Amino acid sequence: MQFMSRVGNLVTAAKPNVCAYLLPVARRGSPPFSSSLSVRSSVSTVVDHHNGNGTGYAFHHTSSFILGSPSVGDLEADNCRRDRNHQLSTVSTTIGAPYSTTAINSSNLTYKYPRVLLKISGEALQGKQGFGVDPSVLNHVAEEIAEAHRSGLQLAVVVGGGNYFRGATAPKGMDRAQADYVGMLATVMNALLLQGALENLGIESRVQTAIEMREVAEPYIRRRAIRHLEERRVVIFGAGTGNPFFTTDTAAALRAAEMNANVFMKATKVDGVYDCDPMKNRNAKKYEKLSYRQVCIESLKVMDETAITLCKENDIPVLVFNVMERGNVVRAALGHNVGTVVDGCGAV
Ligand code: UDP
Repeated sequence: MQFMSRVGNLVTAAKPNVCAYLLPVARRGSPPFSSSLSVRSSVSTVVDHHNGNGTGYAFHHTSSFILGSPSVGDLEADNCRRDRNHQLSTVSTTIGAPYSTTAINSSNLTYKYPRVLLKISGEALQGKQGFGVDPSVLNHVAEEIAEAHRSGLQLAVVVGGGNYFRGATAPKGMDRAQADYVGMLATVMNALLLQGALENLGIESRVQTAIEMREVAEPYIRRRAIRHLEERRVVIFGAGTGNPFFTTDTAAALRAAEMNANVFMKATKVDGVYDCDPMKNRNAKKYEKLSYRQVCIESLKVMDETAITLCKENDIPVLVFNVMERGNVVRAALGHNVGTVVDGCGAV
């Protein structure tokens, strides 16, 4: 609660911006998850005390696992199960509870995408404010990640920074590379805010930055990041690729490949890719499936070409979906149709 009111102050003080298909299950060698871990973690120990202004949640821990770290016994049992099952990630849980209005009540869920790279843009975090971070949106995104994490998914998150600063829209005359470094620092602010919100929900996480800043985060180390995922920690990547002239979409595609993620989930404010802006045109047509090629040829605004090319070359499907709808991350990981899928077998 205190944390979120601090977040509230911080974001209010923030300045405006100056200036889709069937892959083999567990395709990229991600370890399957223990159902027992998830059963225990899914017990409704999380109590929503939303205070009406989007700033507070309290959590009641009745399970030793709720903090996200399995016991040694759990890990050993998990390892045995991994040896037995290299193909399927089966999770027994109640997805959606206690937050979801559209909860999926099911047992023995099989994830199509057990290891997820989730990209959250700064724009999504700013909500309707037009700049900075909207605490209620930040909370919502954190809850969505927490729910997916408790349901057994491995989650790596790349955050954007466009809600604070974008190199491309820097003040006239500013060196582009210099401006891009400012943009990368902006992503670190979002990464730390997200970590704080997750911590508030009892979810263990690590921030790794592509530009070293050891006082606030770990430097990016690929193997260590993978280890965190295996040890049931959410990993948040900040500072993009660490290089100017790139975007966080490209950083996310790169990290997805490096993490051997099964899917790149692009969390947005709309429920998929449209042929024109659905906010402006009521007749906008939504695509259910697209090919990487179609995205490039038709210049569809899914992500920049470098990012889509990286996904194509590494055979990583991209899911574009609305992160504001409860339970969508889990549903998407189950392979449900929650937005637009971009992959090598799309419509064209
Ligand atoms: N950026 C960069 N290199 C990277 C990632 C990001 O230079 O690898 C800079 C770039 O200036 C970009 C800004 O950081 O505009 C914020 O990232 P982005 O625009 O991708 O954020 P989003 O649109 O997702 O909020």
